[in-house]
Amino acid sequence: RVLFRSVFADSIKEKLDYTNFKEKSQLVCVVYTMCGIVGVVGNTNATDILIQGLEKLEYRGYDSAGLFVLGGAENHLVKAVGRIAELSAKTAGVEGTTGIGHTRWATHGRPSDMNAHPHSSEDGKFAVVHNGIIENYMPLKEELIEKGYHFKSETDTEVVAHLLADMYDGDFVGTVRRMLARVDGAYALEIICADEPDKIICTKKENPLVIGLGKGENFVASDIPAIINYTRDTYILSDGELAIVTRDNVSVFDREGNPVDKEVFHVSWNAEAAEKGGYEHFMLKEIHDQPKAVRDTFGTHISEDGKTAIFDELNWTAD
Ligand code: GLU
Repeated sequence: RVLFRSVFADSIKEKLDYTNFKEKSQLVCVVYTMCGIVGVVGNTNATDILIQGLEKLEYRGYDSAGLFVLGGAENHLVKAVGRIAELSAKTAGVEGTTGIGHTRWATHGRPSDMNAHPHSSEDGKFAVVHNGIIENYMPLKEELIEKGYHFKSETDTEVVAHLLADMYDGDFVGTVRRMLARVDGAYALEIICADEPDKIICTKKENPLVIGLGKGENFVASDIPAIINYTRDTYILSDGELAIVTRDNVSVFDREGNPVDKEVFHVSWNAEAAEKGGYEHFMLKEIHDQPKAVRDTFGTHISEDGKTAIFDELNWTAD
């Protein structure tokens, strides 16, 4: 199954002309719910936890990977196109207690070291990983370039890092909220701010995000297999919720900033079953995943009354 998926995706990507938006949007439809996010605020070496977590998310498909680790002698940003093994080979001496990691399936910009996540702001204050698509990245990018920001990648995601730097007033969570008010699209996001090194802020809209509740360490991931070796107690975030994750605490807030009393979801499946989302085998899981995959794929392109498909970027006429 995984082989089929990756061969299929690679063959699409080989044929893909990234300057042709129509082809690109077809690719988006195929890969919308793929790729992965992990994060940890802990006491031991974050790098190992991130690498192992990313390996557990390999089944989701990816073309490159990266991580940002801090809390050690220095901060480390490491990226590699290709397999997790190639990323892992670059992490000798990368030590810290807090980190975010990502497997990317390119939607904006080709698979390359430079386009791999995390993306950081020019001042190095913010690092961001993102699954999904920032639909309005183009006007935001133009605005930020106008203001003097320099982009290193071709991704939609990089606007998030520069927007955060541009809006930052010393209040990390407030800045994230104001940034979110400016971006449209689908996302699972993890954000780190160098001023508050033992904290991850994460949020989601239409892409999955799970928080793992540990003892003296807490985790973030796109899916349960990435964290099941460390904890079985989780919060499953809903769209619009934002979590502040520190070593000893996880606080969840709704869209308006009100605290949410999350119910703990205890994972009783074994690690093997967790990879199949509690289903007996992958085919069953995929069958049950389909309604959500279709919703995630088309959700942002359907009008609020549910009657019209919107593909503004394609400049289609009524006929
Ligand atoms: N749209 C982002 C990119 O192309 C994220 C892709 C993903 O979900 O991995 O970099």
